[in-house]
Amino acid sequence: MLSTLRSIVQEVNSARDLQEALDIIVSRVQDAMNTEVCSVYLVDPDSNRYILMATEGLYKKAVGRVSLGQSEGLIGLVGSREEPINLEDAPSHPRYRYFPETGEERFRSFLGVPIIHHRRVLGVLVVQQRDASRRFDEGEEAFLVTISAQLAGVIAHSEATGAISGLSLTGKEARDVSFSGVPGAPGVAIGTGVVVFPPADLDAVPDKQVDDITAELAVFGDAVSAVRGDIERVAERLATQLRPEEQALFEVYLRMLDDNAMPGEVVTHIKQGQWAQGALKQVVQQYVRHFEKMGDHYLRERIVDIRDLGRRLLAHMQEVAPKDVEYPDQTVLVSDEITPAMLGEVPRGQLVGLVSVRGSSNSHVAILARAMGVPTVMGLVDVPVNQLDGREIIVDGFDGQIYASPSADLKAVYKEICDEEDALFRGLEALRDLPSETLDGHRVSLLVNTGLMTDVVRSLNHGAEGIGLYRTEVPFMIKERFPSEQEQREYYREQLEAFAPNPVTMRTLDIGGDKALTYFPIDEENPFLGWRGIRVTLDHPEIFLVQVRAMLKASEGLNNLQIMLPMISNISEVEESLHLIYRVYHEVREEGYDIHMPRVGVMVEVPAAVYQIRELADRVDFLSVGSNDLTQYLLAVDRNNPRVAQLYHSYHPAVLQALVRIAHDAHSVGKPVSICGELAGDPGGAVLLMAMGYDALSMNAASLPKVKSVIRSINREWAKALLNDVLMLDSPHVIKSCVDLALKNAGFGRYLRPGRTIAETVAAG
Ligand code: PEP
Ligand code: MG
Repeated sequence: MLSTLRSIVQEVNSARDLQEALDIIVSRVQDAMNTEVCSVYLVDPDSNRYILMATEGLYKKAVGRVSLGQSEGLIGLVGSREEPINLEDAPSHPRYRYFPETGEERFRSFLGVPIIHHRRVLGVLVVQQRDASRRFDEGEEAFLVTISAQLAGVIAHSEATGAISGLSLTGKEARDVSFSGVPGAPGVAIGTGVVVFPPADLDAVPDKQVDDITAELAVFGDAVSAVRGDIERVAERLATQLRPEEQALFEVYLRMLDDNAMPGEVVTHIKQGQWAQGALKQVVQQYVRHFEKMGDHYLRERIVDIRDLGRRLLAHMQEVAPKDVEYPDQTVLVSDEITPAMLGEVPRGQLVGLVSVRGSSNSHVAILARAMGVPTVMGLVDVPVNQLDGREIIVDGFDGQIYASPSADLKAVYKEICDEEDALFRGLEALRDLPSETLDGHRVSLLVNTGLMTDVVRSLNHGAEGIGLYRTEVPFMIKERFPSEQEQREYYREQLEAFAPNPVTMRTLDIGGDKALTYFPIDEENPFLGWRGIRVTLDHPEIFLVQVRAMLKASEGLNNLQIMLPMISNISEVEESLHLIYRVYHEVREEGYDIHMPRVGVMVEVPAAVYQIRELADRVDFLSVGSNDLTQYLLAVDRNNPRVAQLYHSYHPAVLQALVRIAHDAHSVGKPVSICGELAGDPGGAVLLMAMGYDALSMNAASLPKVKSVIRSINREWAKALLNDVLMLDSPHVIKSCVDLALKNAGFGRYLRPGRTIAETVAAG
């Protein structure tokens, strides 16, 4: 059974489009279950009806014609109950609905299972049988449920592929189709998609239409000659070491490279206007699909060869292909996984939006995007993003949605939202030099989180009083090796100088988790529970010592440096780090630098630290809460995984209780406490944190003016009353609504995410 299941899934996976996938499903399931009818109905988002999309056993002419409302017939019943329905005599069921076009009056027994993907009912998979005495048994029901669960993702993906090219389920023109991910950075953008993809990954190559066909033919021809040459050379070198049957493998490869074999087909695709790399990808995928269908073991084995050849040809083409991507004026960068290096490659001022398949709103690239003020959608998992190259896209970073090929009306709606946001920011500029103080005179420092130099410029423009978190890993991530002490010293000096005499808090290198250095890969099963932050640098004192030395030397004459330690879960880690910092301090002074001992602090971002606040605070000068990680670890929700993004909630009562406790315990031993997670930059979050007594809030520069404007317009007593109210509640969603409502009533409705308003506006047309 398992092998049948696997082979069906594999075959469906390699289908060219949705219709082919559905046709394969019905014919293979009918066969495997030895039943007379197998059909699939999908929900058409336009009409909100179940449409018969494919069948084996009913009249084919009914496909695309027969449709049922959401609560109509047995299909509607399966969909609304979200569970299988297994009947011996379907026509006698009160919900049975008869369609003469299908010829289904002949069939009595019925088994329908819903096709559900991420809680959304996509459709219903049905098998039917003429013989009333044959009730589908438990094993058959379980088989159909398994198939349906496995195929839901493939169906969702194929549906999205059609929709990107502007086609509805029924093949009609579809406009303004939205694709949902997770909000990454707020704001909206309208621009042109540029897909950046990792090299030598055939499946990641985007489709692109080109004008200069001759040039593409030449690129491909050169790659074929080069690969042929490579294979001949290897064959010659190994001639004496291999048996003749093994040598024959090279013959097979060379034959596959004959002009009338695979290359001929690639040339045909190029002549139809596809660029060489895309044409190669299409042909290799066709071959793979074709061979996968073959029962023949030998031919199935050839899939590996075809893929290998494809990769070799691609590598040659990419070597000679000009590396410079052309970025349009309004670039929306699209990738399977966006890296900080990719962001750096887009010329200044041309990057308007980001779309990433992987990651979630608390992934580090989303945090960077927020700092840069670039609207971002993350976790667009079911969307074949490599089809977005060159397409016009709207990125809605409030709602976490994108629209491909939008209509003029939709663009007008979004243009208006862009203009409103700009006006809001301009209005806040006047606050720049005013203190961050409540109406009743309570001061709370507003600091910024930085990583790139551009953040510094923005922060100064927005009136930040210092840096609460400089993520030193960012300059490490955009290099190809560890930066030298001198290079680090230069980065750090820039940050320290820009804010002097105000404090600049530099966090020691925090890599691991989702922050990877290409030149220092960490491959682990559970990276967020693994070798991260201080654990890495204490194991590599040579990295830690160089970094601290660079920081101390950079602070000479400024003396506004503070050092902060990430991911502390044990007191001994603080003691070891302090020991190393003191050692460097004395050495650097001995070298003749006139420096002061910096204040040292600990980040509270794992639950263990929450219960040892006093012990930690006794050893250092300050504490700073990393609420992004603290939320992830308290709720056991991977901050980077879009599947569980709905469960990641910094307003969760457990998180709020922990935050209250941290502030209380730190103050009880007379130590200041700040927060540098994203919650600090959320106007509602900032109000609660201020009420809890946090001394400083550190956030991305873009959020600072909004937070300052709220703080300056409220009383601390009002904030405390709100905090007391929400601490009585037990649901994160209710807490969020309660805080939103309080802000709205206080006149800050325009600071709340306008997501719902956008969705409503769009829906209302
Ligand atoms: C945090 O975890 O809240 C934090 C500020 O650090 P980072 O997001 O860089 O992990
Ligand atoms: Mg952290």
